[in-house]
Amino acid sequence: MDDFDRVITEELDRWQQAGKVARCWLRDDDAVEPSTPLERLLEITGAFSVPLTLAVIPAYTGEALAQRLARAPSCSVAVHGWSHVNYAGAGEKKQELGCHRPASEVLDELQRGFSHLAGLHPNRFVPMLVPPWNRIDAGLVPRLADLGFEALSVYGPEMPSVLRVVNTHVDVMDWHGTRGGRDRMALAGEIVARLGHMFDHGGSLGLLTHHLVHDEAVWDFMIALFDVTARHPACRWCRVTDVLRDQ
Ligand SMILES: [Zn+2]
Repeated sequence: MDDFDRVITEELDRWQQAGKVARCWLRDDDAVEPSTPLERLLEITGAFSVPLTLAVIPAYTGEALAQRLARAPSCSVAVHGWSHVNYAGAGEKKQELGCHRPASEVLDELQRGFSHLAGLHPNRFVPMLVPPWNRIDAGLVPRLADLGFEALSVYGPEMPSVLRVVNTHVDVMDWHGTRGGRDRMALAGEIVARLGHMFDHGGSLGLLTHHLVHDEAVWDFMIALFDVTARHPACRWCRVTDVLRDQ
């Protein structure tokens, strides 16, 4: 057992001794069509029976992805904005669902995205919004339920909201440095820290991936993580619908 396996196993052993089970879920963003990286993602998650939630960009997706996912029974589909276009200014953080456009325009697009994906994926669609870049104007959130959304997923600790919130907490990518996978021991440290928080306060651990930009380090990390967690009796990789239902 290497250091990575050891730190995660030690934390999960603590859960097991307390008779608790840590619930984890996997969100992967930006899918639009079948691709070689998507095949790899489906293969790895399938091998470890890890359910997958794909945050799909509605504007660019169609039947091809729906036909591929018909053979992926543990895959759910959530709404990743509409077109993943950045409307923020040059000095701002990127945002599609900000206050840069009239709210009615943003909400109309989200309605289109919801309908488009619900139609393409009737058996795997989850009425959950995953805002591109994990950002949405707070003023829009109270209006999402009218569009049919039942949940919201961003990044970081869950904040009080009018919608159910199930976030991701660990991001495998080094966006501002190498733009490849992050150091696996740093990721293990974040995972253990999140598990420690959950042990005392409840909640789930959301892992965030982006299959289209993974380097070998990310794929290796995912295999190592699933290998050590998926067979541990105190860890359960869940469908996002199960996480939401049990909140
Ligand atoms: Zn995205």
